[in-house]
Amino acid sequence: MSSQNSQNAKAPMKKPGSNNYLWLLIVILAVSALAVMFNSGSSNIKKISLNQFVEDAQNGKVAKIVLDSESDRLNITNIDGSQDYTYKEASATIEDILAKVPDNIKKDIDTEIQPSSGGNIWITILINVLPIIIIVGFFLFMMRQAQSSNSQAMSFGKSKAKLYDVLKKKTMFTDVAGAEEAKQELVEIVDFLKNPSKYSQIGAKIPKGVLLVGAPGTGKTLLARAVAGEANVPFFSISGSEFVEMFVGVGASRVRDLFKKAQKNSPCIIFIDEIDAVGRQRGTGLGGGHDEREQTLNQILTEMDGFEGDTGVIVMAATNRPDVLDPALLRPGRFDRRVMVDLPDIKDREEILKVHARNKPLDSNVKITTIAMHTPGFSGADLENIMNEAAILCAKENRKTITQEDLQESVEKVMMGPERKSRGLSEQEKIRTAYHEVGHAVVGHSTKNCDPVHKVSIVSRGMALGVTWFLPEDDKHLYTRSKFFDEICSLFGGYCAEIEFFGEMSTGASNDLEKATKIATNMVTKYGMSTVGPVTLGDQSGHEIFLGRDLGHTKNYSEDTARKVDIEIKSILEQGLQYASKYIKENRELMDRISKQLLETENLSREDFLSFFGETLEQDDHKHGLTTHKKSKKAAKKD
Ligand code: ADP
Ligand code: MG
Ligand code: ZN
Repeated sequence: MSSQNSQNAKAPMKKPGSNNYLWLLIVILAVSALAVMFNSGSSNIKKISLNQFVEDAQNGKVAKIVLDSESDRLNITNIDGSQDYTYKEASATIEDILAKVPDNIKKDIDTEIQPSSGGNIWITILINVLPIIIIVGFFLFMMRQAQSSNSQAMSFGKSKAKLYDVLKKKTMFTDVAGAEEAKQELVEIVDFLKNPSKYSQIGAKIPKGVLLVGAPGTGKTLLARAVAGEANVPFFSISGSEFVEMFVGVGASRVRDLFKKAQKNSPCIIFIDEIDAVGRQRGTGLGGGHDEREQTLNQILTEMDGFEGDTGVIVMAATNRPDVLDPALLRPGRFDRRVMVDLPDIKDREEILKVHARNKPLDSNVKITTIAMHTPGFSGADLENIMNEAAILCAKENRKTITQEDLQESVEKVMMGPERKSRGLSEQEKIRTAYHEVGHAVVGHSTKNCDPVHKVSIVSRGMALGVTWFLPEDDKHLYTRSKFFDEICSLFGGYCAEIEFFGEMSTGASNDLEKATKIATNMVTKYGMSTVGPVTLGDQSGHEIFLGRDLGHTKNYSEDTARKVDIEIKSILEQGLQYASKYIKENRELMDRISKQLLETENLSREDFLSFFGETLEQDDHKHGLTTHKKSKKAAKKD
């Protein structure tokens, strides 16, 4: 705690320090500027013409002349003490000018010649000194900066762990919707923290490390905080990437510091977010920097081995890449507890939406269930985002309550990017886009296994000119070969429609082709869904190159197999293309009608679309087996 405070105290002091020199500079500048103004404006010296001067001189008014030979300025002091100035021609001397003045008067006039100006001494000083001041000031500033970053380096070894005061902002399990299994596992941890003696008496070892595994935004951080909140213990949070800095050795010393702090505050939770940043398999990294990571990781392991379970410190860590973690992290006595945090299913999504709707006024027409239904694959963070976007939409239009339309709109926005109505499509492009999208929709609809068409739109969104939105009304866990194939057919729908109605394809289909190719490739090399046979080919771990593992050893099949794979992928794509092309050729008239309608309204809802086939929602649901779905899911579980 105390070092935390002293660090905090240092921070505000630094600022005025580095500003001091700036202030000094500003003050010096201001004083000089004032001095210049004061000096030039101090006396009421006035300018007179040369003739006037000569006249004055003739009349004996002039007491003294000082010639500034550089600027040819004559500074005149009169008998009565007043001062004037004038300019002479460069070629003329004072003698020339005073030629008309009677000698008896002339001899009383004091003349003096200043070799080089002093026109205004302050300006001269300023011009000469200012650059020096600026340069010196700049150097001082730089030095100061360097110093402060030096002192930062001194505190580098200190962990930057943020201590959340649990009393202030408590997160409880009730704030985490769904995730029942994860919560059940964690209840145990809460109990360990609350009554450690209960376990140690009976000789049970309290787990030291809990690894939360799940996709981004599924609530891992939230769960860890909730554990701290429920157990009412301090919560030290640090991100894996914060261990790794520019200097070698910093990470390790930060780890040491963090564990020391935690032990002082036990019982408590240390939470290491994104642990894959430091916990990747050792000895596999490419390029620099992994030595540092290894040291950091080693230090974490050492610290975890070092403290006994009954110190009451539990280390929680989160990652979405458990596959890249070093096995040493996962062995018993370290992060041996693994808690999976899944993407929420439909019921959980509803709960999460409700949690985030808590402080938002919802209209009576809002059906959270429908929104939950329309958001398969969304994470908790996405759902929170949807609620927030809807509230923003509502506030923008100065309405008091969030409506179902707001929510629907924000689902689409989160899923497909914001609408870009202003995107200037030509009439021809619009027509092409309409046929393209309708092509996807009708081909998809004609197949048995594509998800129901949820919406067809030719309003530009994000990068896409239009979208056909197929929506599984249920969370999918298994995909069959025919589902993949039907999806490929539907992806070719746009491409074929363009060829059929416009005589040639356009760039608008490139994304579809990419997706289709990817599906076909996976079918052949990953799922054994082709004549190549039941094998997985190539590196299926999905690791990016930068991990460096087995780089260059990803190909585990022969040239001959490679050729077969290529042929097979092509053949699957060809078949999909043929299906789509045939269907569109045979349904030109239908395509025309739907496209015309789409061009008129820009959007077609599921009902609108089905009406062209004379079908109702229920019929379509039935076709997709949705009414019988509950039974089939149970049956699947038994298997
Ligand atoms: P992760 O750490 O898994 O990437 P976070 O815990 O940071 O995800 O979640 C991000 C946000 O998403 C949280 O702050 C929370 O508001 C929301 N969220 C995620 N999952 C849930 C959930 N199960 N219940 C309520 N809110 C959730
Ligand atoms: Mg997180
Ligand atoms: Zn398309």
